[in-house]
Amino acid sequence: MAGQPELKLYNTLTREKTDFVPIDPQNVRMYVCGPTVYDFAHIGNARPIIVFDVLFRLLRHVYGAEHVTYARNITDVDDKINARALRDYPGLPLNEAIRAVTEKTEKQFLDDAKMLGCLDPTVQPRATDSIPQMIEIIEKLIAKGHAYQAGGEVLFDTRSMADYGALSKRNLDEQQAGARIAVDAHKKSPGDFVLWKLSTEIEPGWESPWGRGRPGWHIECSAMSERYLGEVFDIHGGGLDLIFPHHENEIAQSRCAHGTDVMANVWMHNGFLQVEGRKMSKSEGNFVTIYELLHTETFGGRQWPAEVLRLAMLMTHYREPIDFSVKRLEEAERLLSKWSVVDAGTAAPDPAVLNALADDLNTVAAVQALHALAQSGDAAVFAASAALLGIQPKKTEVDEAVAAEIDARVRARLELLKAKNFAEADKIRETLAAEGIQLKDGKDPATGERVTTWEVKR
Ligand code: AMP
Ligand code: ZN
Repeated sequence: MAGQPELKLYNTLTREKTDFVPIDPQNVRMYVCGPTVYDFAHIGNARPIIVFDVLFRLLRHVYGAEHVTYARNITDVDDKINARALRDYPGLPLNEAIRAVTEKTEKQFLDDAKMLGCLDPTVQPRATDSIPQMIEIIEKLIAKGHAYQAGGEVLFDTRSMADYGALSKRNLDEQQAGARIAVDAHKKSPGDFVLWKLSTEIEPGWESPWGRGRPGWHIECSAMSERYLGEVFDIHGGGLDLIFPHHENEIAQSRCAHGTDVMANVWMHNGFLQVEGRKMSKSEGNFVTIYELLHTETFGGRQWPAEVLRLAMLMTHYREPIDFSVKRLEEAERLLSKWSVVDAGTAAPDPAVLNALADDLNTVAAVQALHALAQSGDAAVFAASAALLGIQPKKTEVDEAVAAEIDARVRARLELLKAKNFAEADKIRETLAAEGIQLKDGKDPATGERVTTWEVKR
């Protein structure tokens, strides 16, 4: 696109950073695996939400907002949800308990994402709304010899796909070394994974050619991405832990069902947010929820503004691990406190910020360029550049009376300039500068007269 930066993205499929070429520039399509709604999201889960929101903003800037489709799903059928429902609502019938868990968790997730300054994805499909699409893919896989029924399940036959494992670069034997043979006795090979499994009477289930059952996790994303983005689309994202098995298996299902060479052209994975060198996760028990960080005093004994968390996340490149700490949040907060503007107006973003982001989302360089702009640049350009990162600079509060008094001194200076009394005019400029008020001279395009605007510099 004319005047736009060359976008380069690192692709996990090829392990290379290459030029991004959309399949259709009129409709650039991105899918990101969303949450399984059984529990509140932790700040590790916030990382992909924020990282791919920045990519969404960049794509909208480069290709036009109406030319980008971003789908992020909600996984609302999963055995973890069933277990949580039984634990939290023992008195309710299971289907009602499940609805209570998923509705509450989904609402909290959407609140969290909004608080973190993320734009709504174009579509946010729920898995339970695409069950017929999942059944259709499974039928295709069976018809083409890529899936089989055994032990109350429909399984994907990993041996039926010549290049299974290409994303994670594992070969089948490596994948199977750790598999538990006894449990998997009904499988043709231990790496085969569930597409569909039968439900007991109380478990959630849908009618299918293989009996009343429910989908496996991986098939959900194959169905929703096809439904909303097509058989082959541009970008598929998620955290590093999703490469294997989740994304590997999505690829296997989609490519084998559709007979395509790729499912998505570019696969992007964010690194882990860690605590003392260990991945933050539910199972490790070392997690802080987004809700807790923003609304309680769990972390560092205080609440943190959402924008501080967002910036703290972007101060590291998305593929690097983040060691999360109070110090990092404080650093982000210090930086943000210096980023206030009086009246932003609208402008094009700064090329340095844009080019940094276009280089595989180099948010570290983008934040540095933004900081340089905050100190010396134009407020409107600063605000437009910050918006690419989803950061909204605070409006500096200036008391009305103070603002009127500054306006009067700025007008007095203009009169002095008209009268060619440059010495007195400069004195006013210098006094204002000493008070932290910076003047900017320009011309009114209509009248050609000199106009002066001012802003508060910190
Ligand atoms: P999960 O709920 O575990 O399926 O995770 C939802 C999303 O968050 C996935 O894209 C994960 O890869 C990502 N994720 C989970 N834990 C972390 C972490 N500690 N750091 C970064 N991303 C994570
Ligand atoms: Zn997925």
